[in-house]
Amino acid sequence: MTVTRFAPSPNGPLHLGHAYSAIVAHDLARERGGRFLVRIEDIDGARSRAELADAFRADLEWLGLEWEEVAPQSSRVARYEAAAARLRELGLLYPCRCTRAEIAAAASARGPDGPVYPGTCRSTAVGTAGSVAWRLDVAEAMRRTGRLSWVDEVRGEQVARPDLAGDVVLVRKEADTPASYHLAATLDDAADGVTLVTRGMDLFAASHVHRLLQSLLGLPVPVWHHHALLLEADGRKLAKRRGSPSLADRRRAGEDGRALAEALRAGRLPAGITLSEGLHAEP
Ligand SMILES: [Zn+2]
Repeated sequence: MTVTRFAPSPNGPLHLGHAYSAIVAHDLARERGGRFLVRIEDIDGARSRAELADAFRADLEWLGLEWEEVAPQSSRVARYEAAAARLRELGLLYPCRCTRAEIAAAASARGPDGPVYPGTCRSTAVGTAGSVAWRLDVAEAMRRTGRLSWVDEVRGEQVARPDLAGDVVLVRKEADTPASYHLAATLDDAADGVTLVTRGMDLFAASHVHRLLQSLLGLPVPVWHHHALLLEADGRKLAKRRGSPSLADRRRAGEDGRALAEALRAGRLPAGITLSEGLHAEP
């Protein structure tokens, strides 16, 4: 059975791009007689706001979607810690205290998420007292798993290239944010029985890393469906900080959410918004 999910973070309101992503995941499950899950990704420490999760539910209902809600990330922290401990035992994590500025200054390559961490702390004895991030030794992990591949149902089979992102952080420095997106989302999708990971093309490169984590942690391997992104007229991804109205704004203004969902399904986009084709595709 096909199981998809929409997994928003309650650190800002949902926008049209989120609506599109939720509709894609919802419709793919419905077309195949499967299940559509919603998971609240609320481990972003200080930025997570519980009241926003309630607004998200109202937004999705307003769009005419039906879903099953699974446990929020904040209730799953013990699992993240256990997985990190396992990877540490395997000798695949190392502590790092580098700041963003230090990484930017030392990096010689750019990856999908900005400067690639140059591995400064990989072979250095870094003390683990206080706040420290834990990074995955990607080269060593790839050496142990051998060649991996994964399938995007739109773009076909992909050879996993987690090395393009460098040694990603799996446990964040901030004590109130226990796991990075990579570790938490990979574990959650497995725990929730997600078979079709549906998300925007901006996360295509993350799937290389997630495929590696699945292999290291003995998790089932789903199929992925990376969808196009809604873009602003200047080609930039729609972002909350640029002041476009949120779904909650539209809902409270009396707009018809179901009609909006139908328009998005039919590719009738609001003025000034376009749909990307293969943006941020695999390098
Ligand atoms: Zn470091």
